[in-house]
Amino acid sequence: MEHDGALNRMLSDTMSRVRQELVHRQPALICQETGTVLQVGGGIARVQGLASISSEELVAFPGGVLGVAINLEPDEVGVILLGENEQQGAGVRVTATGRETDTPVGDGLLGRIVDATGKVLDGGKPLEVHERRPIERTAPEIIERAPVTVPLETGLKPIDALIPIGRGQRELILGDRQTGKTSIAIDTIINQRDKGVICVYCAVGQRGTSVAKVIETLRQHDALDHTIVVVASDEDPAGLRYITPYAATTMAEYFMEQGRDVLIVYDDLTRHARAYRELSLLLRRPPGREAYPGDIFYIHSRLLERSTHMRTEYGGGSLTALPIIETQAQDISAYIPTNLISITDGQIYLSPTLFQKGLLPAINIGKSVSRVGGKTQHPALRTVASDLRLAYSQFEELETFARFSTRLDPETRDTIERGRRVREILKQSEHRPLRTSEQVGILTAVNAGLFDSLPLEELADAEELIRRGLLERLPELCAHIDSGKPLDKEQSQRILDDISTSLTALTS
Ligand code: ATP
Ligand code: MG
Repeated sequence: MEHDGALNRMLSDTMSRVRQELVHRQPALICQETGTVLQVGGGIARVQGLASISSEELVAFPGGVLGVAINLEPDEVGVILLGENEQQGAGVRVTATGRETDTPVGDGLLGRIVDATGKVLDGGKPLEVHERRPIERTAPEIIERAPVTVPLETGLKPIDALIPIGRGQRELILGDRQTGKTSIAIDTIINQRDKGVICVYCAVGQRGTSVAKVIETLRQHDALDHTIVVVASDEDPAGLRYITPYAATTMAEYFMEQGRDVLIVYDDLTRHARAYRELSLLLRRPPGREAYPGDIFYIHSRLLERSTHMRTEYGGGSLTALPIIETQAQDISAYIPTNLISITDGQIYLSPTLFQKGLLPAINIGKSVSRVGGKTQHPALRTVASDLRLAYSQFEELETFARFSTRLDPETRDTIERGRRVREILKQSEHRPLRTSEQVGILTAVNAGLFDSLPLEELADAEELIRRGLLERLPELCAHIDSGKPLDKEQSQRILDDISTSLTALTS
């Protein structure tokens, strides 16, 4: 009897505990708004029923595909799709997630290849990131921004000497197809290897093979560890291509906000604009010039406005942008190129004519400009490059005229001969960025007229000798120049003497 009583007590205790737990375990009520797809096609869906959805909100489709609501109309919502699968079609139910379109951010992204939503594309382990941030963020206020003061070294002689770029600047790279646009951006990323600048390469609408080539180049030159590659290829839906640059910028901003220097390359914004045009036309927005919608300027200005140099009170980080644009038949006055030229702080124009002549990188110096970077150039480089730009333009004009006359006065002949040597030494092969000190050495030699007596074909060897000589014999002076310090008279003389020694080895 006693035994039964104990059992009963135990049972009733357990029952009351379970009852209590059940009271606390009331399932939370999840309130989700759902809608019905009216039509799907061309990467967009028209959805009925999402009455209280907000702009840029994520919409979940069956099968895990996400979309972004961008067209909010009284009786339907236009959603751009970020993926594709067979379960999409008229009649399926979709839910509003209540989440803004976002992307992962963090150190775990370095060295990885991802898409805008954070999907890993390199076949590696899952991302080790713990935070997601919205892809659309307002640009820093004017009050938070500082002037551009530190150079971003590209390692390319024509750019660092004549069109210098500063950290926090936006410099457009434009030119026809296959003129070396991507190469310039990749060389700049490679040159940041030991400079502590984090790089983001954002590929939009390119063929998969082109992107694979870029990634391989970065890997070969040990430049992948400090780089994030964000890809939306030409086979991805237009919606994904459209949001990718914004997501890549959010990833870059994370590091800028920690006070780091960051470089972002958008390759390229012509394809981005085309993706947006495709979406806009499908969403039946009114087409304007070249069939682009009216807000095409705004999609690029709000993107590039996020690149800046922050004041020290706000972390002191910087985000430098190198957007790339492809021109058609060298027309830089077309709609998208003019828009971007007016948004950015300068442009590097690549000419197919120079490319065909083998003058690589094929930068047309006359049509290129850097509106803020000049002030940031290393003082030693500025001293040797100061008159070069003007002298070079004068030479180009003279050379054109000189073609018509056979007899030239000695002064003109000398100017032309010097100009030809400048043009020769501005050539540079791919993926071999030079240190500032090496560039200073070469420009010192050309300014002092040390190349004047050498035939053009021998200049490449002479350059190599000078560079090696300086690094071997004057390493401290090279480090001094690379750290951004100016040269005094005696130091400049030592460099000149060393160069002369190198060149005697060539002539003897
Ligand atoms: P696309 O329009 O296809 O994007 P692009 O303008 O980005 O082309 P790149 O792919 O960078 O051009 O370069 C085109 C070709 O020129 C490549 O084969 C590249 O190897 C070569 N090239 C570019 N710059 C140089 C250089 N400085 N020296 C030698 N070859 C170069
Ligand atoms: Mg390219």
